[in-house]
Amino acid sequence: MIVILLGPPGAGKGTQAARLEKSYGLKQLSTGDMLRAAVAAGTPLGLQAKAKMDSGGLVSDELVVKIIEDRMKQADCANGFILDGFPRTVPQAEALDKMLSGLGRSLNAVIEVTLPDAVLVERITGRFACKSCGAGYHDVFKRPEKDGVCDVCGGTEFVRRKDDTAETVQARLDAYRTQTEPLLPYYKAKGILLRVDGGQAIDVVAEEIDKAIGVNERA
Ligand code: ADP
Ligand code: ADP
Ligand code: ZN
Repeated sequence: MIVILLGPPGAGKGTQAARLEKSYGLKQLSTGDMLRAAVAAGTPLGLQAKAKMDSGGLVSDELVVKIIEDRMKQADCANGFILDGFPRTVPQAEALDKMLSGLGRSLNAVIEVTLPDAVLVERITGRFACKSCGAGYHDVFKRPEKDGVCDVCGGTEFVRRKDDTAETVQARLDAYRTQTEPLLPYYKAKGILLRVDGGQAIDVVAEEIDKAIGVNERA
């Protein structure tokens, strides 16, 4: 199964993609995570992407298409994958269609996760993650069960993204509205677009996504 999670920054795509990976073995492919890893490793690709990411703008289509194309062909994607944060522009969506047809595969569903801007800002400015395993948390909405200790790996160090500030959020929301929202009619025309209200509790959003894509956790 191949599913796209589409939605503005902070809508909950990463949270839900990580859960789908854990429950159903659908690999989470986050272009944001891949780009941040490239920046941290100081690769030429990372150096190219960094300034755009810091300012809240989009990295070039060419660069992200190449990353995702290489990643998709790896063995751990054979079972299916969740695209989290890709595509973000119409040319990226067109490139994805081409790649998938080249591999003899096709998209099963595109889930739009919606949320009003004011809530998105709150989500983004309170976001943090475990430094060792990457598990995602929130100052208010999803604190670790034990303060200062990661629920997943027991790690005690946490990180915040450099672009998760009130200043860059607006630029990222603008990029979403102008460059990514045109994907909605693109996928609607293909008859595979579904919508989920991202303002509900994490478990409720999860249930609605599972229902929309037709997966069920086995007992
Ligand atoms: P969020 O989870 O808040 O939506 P991401 O982690 O997906 O943010 O992306 C962080 C940054 O990485 C973006 O602001 C952008 O600069 C870059 N980026 C990630 N995915 C893409 C993409 N598909 N196309 C262009 N830029 C991207
Ligand atoms: P995205 O990948 O779309 O940018 P994330 O999954 O990283 O969004 O979620 C943004 C922040 O909001 C994180 O701190 C996460 O813990 C929190 N969050 C995610 N889903 C919900 C939800 N349904 N209700 C409240 N907080 C949420
Ligand atoms: Zn952890």
